[in-house]
Amino acid sequence: MTDSSASVPNGGSPYRVLARKYRPARFNELIGQEAMVRTLGNAIATGRLAHAFILTGVRGVGKTTTARIIARALNCIGPDGRGGPTVEPCGVCENCIAIAGDRHVDVIEMDAASRTGVDDIRELIEGVRYRPVMGRYKVYIVDEVHMLTKNAFNALLKTLEEPPSQVKFVFATTEIRKVPVTVLSRCQRFDLRRVEAAELIGHLAGIAQREGARVAPEALALIARAADGSVRDGLSLLDQAIAHSGAGEIDTRAVQDMLGLADRVQLFDLFELLLKGDAAAALDLFAGMYGAGADPIALLQDLLDLTHWLTRLKIVPNAPDAALMPEAERVKGGDMAGRLSMGVLTRAWQMLLKGLGEANQAPAPKVAVEMLFVRLAYAADLPTPAELVAAIKSGAAPAPTAVPATTPALARPAVASAPGPAPPRGAGSGGWSAPQPDMPPEPVAADAAPSIVLESFRQVVALFEARRLASLHGHLVNNVHLVGFRPGHVAIRPTGRAPANLAADMAAQLTRATGARWIVSVSGEPGEATLAEQAATKTLALRREAESHPLVRAALDAFPGATIQRVHGPGAESPDDAPPPEPDDDEA
Ligand SMILES: [Zn+2]
Repeated sequence: MTDSSASVPNGGSPYRVLARKYRPARFNELIGQEAMVRTLGNAIATGRLAHAFILTGVRGVGKTTTARIIARALNCIGPDGRGGPTVEPCGVCENCIAIAGDRHVDVIEMDAASRTGVDDIRELIEGVRYRPVMGRYKVYIVDEVHMLTKNAFNALLKTLEEPPSQVKFVFATTEIRKVPVTVLSRCQRFDLRRVEAAELIGHLAGIAQREGARVAPEALALIARAADGSVRDGLSLLDQAIAHSGAGEIDTRAVQDMLGLADRVQLFDLFELLLKGDAAAALDLFAGMYGAGADPIALLQDLLDLTHWLTRLKIVPNAPDAALMPEAERVKGGDMAGRLSMGVLTRAWQMLLKGLGEANQAPAPKVAVEMLFVRLAYAADLPTPAELVAAIKSGAAPAPTAVPATTPALARPAVASAPGPAPPRGAGSGGWSAPQPDMPPEPVAADAAPSIVLESFRQVVALFEARRLASLHGHLVNNVHLVGFRPGHVAIRPTGRAPANLAADMAAQLTRATGARWIVSVSGEPGEATLAEQAATKTLALRREAESHPLVRAALDAFPGATIQRVHGPGAESPDDAPPPEPDDDEA
């Protein structure tokens, strides 16, 4: 095949980019499009040719290449000049040669991306009424056909409705959904699929060999993955790699550098550290990236992009644009999207967005970014608004919170991990420990491991909630005064509304959950206020405190424009007539 275009001088001999040099001239040279080739071949062999074809697929899979092969197949007359349309154009007849050289008078190409208007289309199809000059058919190839204006489509439609017998249209598009149905319904459609990495690796290896370039198999795999289904991108990357490497072997490291892959890996790592709450490691990594020349502002934008992508991936795991990412990132991203809750992702987004604004204003962006990272890592330990809402609704977490208007409705199905000052771990285990009104329940594993350890009454309540023991959970929140607690033994004073078998039920469930014996005794001591009452009595104070509460400050910080609308507390709407709380500190 002859191809005189896109020549780059290279030491005297004309250099053609690989994508042009190795452009397929026959259907059987197309990579990974066997299904399409088979269908098209059948249509040609049986003479049932549509007047219009539409080829769709992501960029670089070979749509325009296929269109040109179709033009050849339709116009080939064979070496002897007497052949008909064929699945295997000969490549040597005048039509084949002229089409390969982009100079066949009857094969007219138009890029609709640059010529979108009705006049462009009129000009194009004006020649439709004239007979072909040298070929069998006039073939109109319209690339990116979805870019045409509505009027242009209408003009085209008239011709499509009554096409002259010697005219064929071949449309190509990356966005088939933007093509009007009226047009689609008059076309035979072919979907060109993304080329599998393994197929692409084989293809690239063959071409590298023919080019005399030595490429490590791993490096080839990296290129194929980055090309992500696009033969053209793969060849273009191979081109670059060969240019980079000179005469030596192209190794993994060189390709990683070329693709900026190391940076991407670090970006994922940084994001993970921040959302894990590891501020020290995140700052350390950031310092390394900054030292290597990373721009703090650009880094924030990359993190925003990553957050957006992960969020989308979570909602639509198989979205077409998710498939545009390189395979390695897709796998890693899928894993992260699965592990991170929607609340965490949206909070990260808002904090990053706000931080980007600040960093843009800051005299020293690096410092602003560091401060943002500290805030992000700190926020990792806080429940998301959705989790707060869930915890508060369940009555497990009497904590104040600002409720932003745009709280995502998706909560992690986690056991309430409520906000509040962190208590010293294990405080009071061994003897009776006084119920601590502010003490949040520790997160408890949802499924009962025999080793489950409950160190507070609130943990017990949280466990019952996690196990969906709704009735038991409700009574413990509303109708039980805690008199004393130590692992294995709870003393309670049920109110008149509690069922008679509550203590026995509780003991049975606790024993079952922990695998250890639990005793629940009923006491005559007044004990604590119920959890619901504790929340109710705190509501007013909470409202006053809310503004200065570190959690709320963090929430307000994380959600620009958020205001405190209501302060929630369990039981705030159902006050009991029980006495105010009387904490009894040392019962044992
Ligand atoms: Zn031919």
